[in-house]
Amino acid sequence: MSRAEKIAKMATRTANQAKEAATTSKKRIRGKNSVSFESHKHCVICSIPIPINNEPSICNKQDCDATQKRKEKSRKRLSILLYVGVAVFLVPILIQVVGALI
Ligand SMILES: [Zn+2]
Repeated sequence: MSRAEKIAKMATRTANQAKEAATTSKKRIRGKNSVSFESHKHCVICSIPIPINNEPSICNKQDCDATQKRKEKSRKRLSILLYVGVAVFLVPILIQVVGALI
């Protein structure tokens, strides 16, 4: 084998190696967390990819579950408070209007 041939062979080999490395690294990214790349959503707490049909939008981690439940609770309480506030504001007006009509 001549020197030029040897060099050419080595060059092609390294090119193939580079190609291979690129494809394997791409595969590694796709395979991460075993979630398909096309359709997925993210955990609302830690934002890791989760399946699209996960409802509510949280992963299986205990931390995220607890945080999500706490958030849900405080949101419910806040909306109740909002309705109570509106009622407290509207009831006297309604009573006045009804009193004026009678
Ligand atoms: Zn999470």
